[in-house]
Amino acid sequence: MEPNIPRRGMMLVLSSPSGAGKTSISRRVLAEEPELKMSVSMTTRTRRAGEAEGIDYYFVDLTTFNLMVNRREFLEYAKVFDNYYGTPRSTVEKELAGGRDVLFDIDWQGTQTLAQAARDDLVSIFILPPSTAELERRLRTRARDSLDEVARRMGRAADEMSHWPEYDYVIVNRDLEESVARVRAILVAERLRRQRQPGLAEFVKRLREGQ
Ligand code: 5GP
Repeated sequence: MEPNIPRRGMMLVLSSPSGAGKTSISRRVLAEEPELKMSVSMTTRTRRAGEAEGIDYYFVDLTTFNLMVNRREFLEYAKVFDNYYGTPRSTVEKELAGGRDVLFDIDWQGTQTLAQAARDDLVSIFILPPSTAELERRLRTRARDSLDEVARRMGRAADEMSHWPEYDYVIVNRDLEESVARVRAILVAERLRRQRQPGLAEFVKRLREGQ
């Protein structure tokens, strides 16, 4: 009989410059993977049209954010584009302990912090846009940000993209379906890693004993 020892979940990080399509990829992967839970971050930035409290982010003021920093309630936090973003520790730890994987939409700074804290539990994917022109087009058609903001983010994209070598996997997002399938393939392979299957030694022992 195959031993049913619950495995510890893994942390799957998706990073990319804004507009590379990461949000659409995450939504699709989450819808198709019931054992994968999203880590909802806290941010001090203003809520955009269409964003919902507790789904896209928890929107808090700077005082509340700083209080949480002081109480060590963030697994990681960083300043991105003049605003603060942080990953609440408690929900993530609960999901991982329950054997569920957690998906993070965080930047390279947050990914580095998580890697220092828990390298063995971390799988990181960097999403690249297919071209600069396509990146700019996506930022403009999205139109959630002012034109100023679009220009600023285009400027930052080049810096952010320089961090691709720090990631385990890189996906060029040419096509949503293809990218979703690739993220899911990574998830399947990483779940099959020897060290993520805690019952293996016992299972093989029984197999060898002919049970
Ligand atoms: P946006 O304002 O477009 O939602 O996010 C801006 C950037 O902040 C994105 O690159 C996103 O991945 C990053 N981000 C969102 N939440 C967190 C977080 O909790 N920690 C860190 N380090 N980055 C985050």
